[in-house]
Amino acid sequence: MKVWINGELVDKSQASVSVYDHGLLYGDGVFEGIRVYNGKIFQCDAHIDRLFASAAAIRLKVPYTKEQIVDAMEQSVSANGIVDGYIRLVITRGVGTLGLNPFKCPSPVVFVIADQIAIYSPEMYENGLDVIIAKTRRISPEMFPPSVKSCNYLNNIMAKIEAIDAGVPEAIMLNAAGQVAEATGDNVFIVSDGVIITPPVEAGILDGITRRVTIKLAKELNIPLIERAIEVDELYNADECFLTGTAAEIIAVRKVNDRVIGEGKAGPITLKLLEAFRNFIRSECGG
Ligand code: PMP
Repeated sequence: MKVWINGELVDKSQASVSVYDHGLLYGDGVFEGIRVYNGKIFQCDAHIDRLFASAAAIRLKVPYTKEQIVDAMEQSVSANGIVDGYIRLVITRGVGTLGLNPFKCPSPVVFVIADQIAIYSPEMYENGLDVIIAKTRRISPEMFPPSVKSCNYLNNIMAKIEAIDAGVPEAIMLNAAGQVAEATGDNVFIVSDGVIITPPVEAGILDGITRRVTIKLAKELNIPLIERAIEVDELYNADECFLTGTAAEIIAVRKVNDRVIGEGKAGPITLKLLEAFRNFIRSECGG
């Protein structure tokens, strides 16, 4: 397997960053997770734009143009023969001193891994996932902008550990106000009386690209959708609940803690959106 790192495609075993890299020392860096369908990069511009916005937010100057980064991804996809897979695109602050000062790191490190993807089974798309509500709250926007996809994921990792400890694959995180924010790596939607509801970006969530596509598809399907705060009780009593994300696509939630959601399987609106999403992928990427 080949990894693209700072302009070169090298063997996976040769692809390395320094122990002095602030990406490792402090989680100082940004990243994207991107799907490849039929050999094509899905929602490429949206991911590149979000990456550059994340980098700008942490005052990290990307040492390549957007076109060069796209080219790096395409090289990685074709060098590894990826047809349906996943790209991890990372920019670290680079090598610096042992202090926090990011401006002592002159050369950011950019790397691209194009690999296979582990996805949920088809049964899980029909039956839905069991999730918990994590005790770990999502970091507030006043502390760090959740719109920045940074290499520091410990907040989400702590919630993921809670899920694993509880024997379920995912956890829903609340914001500081105790309202539904997002899952550890996915956005959250509920359906109530035929209306889709999802927390707004201001609730302290990542502005997910799958979320954006889902909102657009719901509008095209004329399903009413509102972005507003969701209370935990509303989540428990929803007719449907689903998660959206690059890896998960659109997947139903069957149970939240011990509460069964709706009929306890993927509901009609979730399945309609999933079908529309898969059609959208085909229209964008072919196959
Ligand atoms: N929230 C978080 C915290 C995430 O890490 C992700 C996945 N990267 C998402 C939501 C979903 O975003 P996207 O649809 O862009 O993958």
